[in-house]
Amino acid sequence: MEKEKQTILIIEDEDAIAELERDYLEQAGYRVQIAHDGDTGLLRALSEDFSLIILDLMLPGTDGFEVCRGVREKKDLPILMVSAKKDDLDKIRGLGFGADDYITKPFSPSELTARVKAHLARYERLVGSAAHRDSAAGQRNRMVEIRGLRIDKDARRVYVGGEEKIMTNKEFDLLTFLAEHPNRVFTKDELFRAIWDMEAVGEVATVTVHIKKIREKIEVSTSNPQYIETIWGVGYRFKI
Ligand code: CA
Repeated sequence: MEKEKQTILIIEDEDAIAELERDYLEQAGYRVQIAHDGDTGLLRALSEDFSLIILDLMLPGTDGFEVCRGVREKKDLPILMVSAKKDDLDKIRGLGFGADDYITKPFSPSELTARVKAHLARYERLVGSAAHRDSAAGQRNRMVEIRGLRIDKDARRVYVGGEEKIMTNKEFDLLTFLAEHPNRVFTKDELFRAIWDMEAVGEVATVTVHIKKIREKIEVSTSNPQYIETIWGVGYRFKI
């Protein structure tokens, strides 16, 4: 079966930029749709099926941050943020809005298509292949595999370089949660609520302790972690 073209949604209020991006991406073999403001973009992102979103930060009405947050609450797909101001990048990075990557205007066509390709490939490897296996074989045997780390979700087992690492239930849940949302920064509060399922009041230190234990099991060097990265003053993210 011939592989279907992947569709990318560009949310951008400047027509010239949106069209330029579209031309480059179509040349690279993608199908492209354009939304000219944040409200339309968010609505389309939630109601239609896209493989990736290119999201301008400064939009009239609902801005890029809100669109990003709105999409992230409901959907897991790569979001590439575009900004004209270098200063905004710190904000995108620090606040954990869930963007996968960011580029500053002006950017070269090769830079844009290279980033898009890389993120689509990563997502396909991490999420798409597992989902495809599920639906194709009717199995629920889902695996997450990243650079020698393998998480078998059904058996609840973790392997590093083929060697099993014994995790407690919460360590397993926390590692799996982070690995399934790669490149996204989560605060300790968010992680605590996601894994422990209760209001995180004065208990966020639990997250730190669990991250430390997970690192001791999966990292070669806990002072230079390859999987779970500390974002100082914010929280953690799983690197891909
Ligand atoms: Ca704009």
